[in-house]
Amino acid sequence: MEELIQKVVELIRQAKRVVVFTGAGVSTESGIPDFRSPGGVWQKYNPEDFYYQKFISSEESREKYWQMSREFYEPLKNALPNAGHKAVVELEKMGKLDCVITQNIDDLHQRAGNSPERVIELHGTAISVSCLACRKKYPREEIQSWLLRGVRVPQCDVCGGILKPDTVSFGQSMPPRETEESFHRARNCDLFIVIGSSLVVQPAASIPLEARNSGAKLVIINRDPTYHDSYADVVIHGSAGEIMSKILERLQVT
Ligand code: NAD
Repeated sequence: MEELIQKVVELIRQAKRVVVFTGAGVSTESGIPDFRSPGGVWQKYNPEDFYYQKFISSEESREKYWQMSREFYEPLKNALPNAGHKAVVELEKMGKLDCVITQNIDDLHQRAGNSPERVIELHGTAISVSCLACRKKYPREEIQSWLLRGVRVPQCDVCGGILKPDTVSFGQSMPPRETEESFHRARNCDLFIVIGSSLVVQPAASIPLEARNSGAKLVIINRDPTYHDSYADVVIHGSAGEIMSKILERLQVT
């Protein structure tokens, strides 16, 4: 492990443009469960119920969705950035970070201190909600208060339209600007570091390979093996917070 950490330190020292790519695993140490691990969201809810088409066509699906969302939002709202997020902020302060591409919807990279313009949210954000008809935007916090008051399926207070968190659901198309920008950044970086992602959700999972195929070094830091481990220059299996802290500690020793 120590040797692998040292290898990553050397790669960061040599790099000029580092892209960090994060998934749910970078936030589990902040108390937000990931989806696939034991105790994760998919052990409690059936992902089939959360397809976008079902959401827009069935009141019953919307009710199930908001029930899940009401529960998931509480740990998300109370979460604080952990050592993994803070290490990424340090990379930015050192002038190494090109951008963070995140599949997360929890706003923790921004709350940790990364510049918002350097954070690309591939799957949207859970901190706001929009009306699918008139596009009125609401803070998620406001909608949570409606849910806690007993509203089961919130509706737009202007036009009565369907409200949906500004996250990308299964079956919904990816945001074109963020997707294009992510592939572009991947092609132009010299070091791509994956932190806490199983790399199964497409097309996000193909972004690390785009970087690798364009000549960047690839590092994967994840608790469990991922599908792309065999393509990486360095793979470290372990806790994102602990490993990133060690990497930063060594980087800061000149
Ligand atoms: P995932 O659930 O598929 O995989 C998470 C990976 O993180 C797993 O392989 C696991 O081994 C690893 N992991 C868990 N805790 C870790 C830790 N402390 N240190 C290192 N690795 C750890 O997550 P995913 O690939 O990001 O995809 C799931 C989708 O669900 C994403 O698209 C994301 O939008 C969404 N999601 C977001 C959040 C969030 O915003 N925090 C939480 C859950 C799910």
